[in-house]
Amino acid sequence: MNVPDYPLEEMLRRIEDAILPFPKAAMFALREQGFDTLFEQLISCIISIRTLDETTLPVSLRLFQKARTPETILSLGREPLAHLLEGSTFPGQKADTIRTVAEAAVQHGGQLPQTFDALTALKGVGPKCANLALGVALNVPAISVDIHVHRVVNRWGLVQTSTPEKTLKVLEAIIPENRWTDINRDLMPFGKFICTGTLPKCSTCPVAQWCKRIGVTRHR
Ligand code: SF4
Repeated sequence: MNVPDYPLEEMLRRIEDAILPFPKAAMFALREQGFDTLFEQLISCIISIRTLDETTLPVSLRLFQKARTPETILSLGREPLAHLLEGSTFPGQKADTIRTVAEAAVQHGGQLPQTFDALTALKGVGPKCANLALGVALNVPAISVDIHVHRVVNRWGLVQTSTPEKTLKVLEAIIPENRWTDINRDLMPFGKFICTGTLPKCSTCPVAQWCKRIGVTRHR
């Protein structure tokens, strides 16, 4: 990686050490527990929308204990599915999206199409979830920009963007593909536990020497 002022490989290595004591991002934790198909990862990401990882993980596990394939999810019925999703935000809306995804998979012979364009064409599936699921499940090079990734790289001054979608485009241009999936894996816990939304832990931050602290007025 060759971005002036930002030795990104070194920064990611330091961040990877710093986040070791903290829980992994939910979808990476689910992959380690064997829930690693594109379908399962996409469903978990839908559950995670506007929902804390502390909730996403148990809600995903509760659902997967009952059903983890497109066919079994559809067989649950809409209301029982929504009931299983309670705890996450908008369970009814998410049940509809998950059923749409499951129906698409059934129409493709039980497997979801493995492209960004095909996944984001499904109602309720956005770029963040499509990229994260493709990256975590299939190792397809894909950057997933959530609120944490967006905040952190803007604070560094690496990007100056107003939306996660714009951040995604800039990061795709400056980060090598072999690190794309690692961006969310590393920066999501980093943003959640170290470079926090309020009072980031700048005094002990492992990448402080390269961070311009854009917009940071108070810190720990
Ligand atoms: S120095 Fe502060 S604002 Fe910059 S990355 Fe570290 S914690 Fe975040």
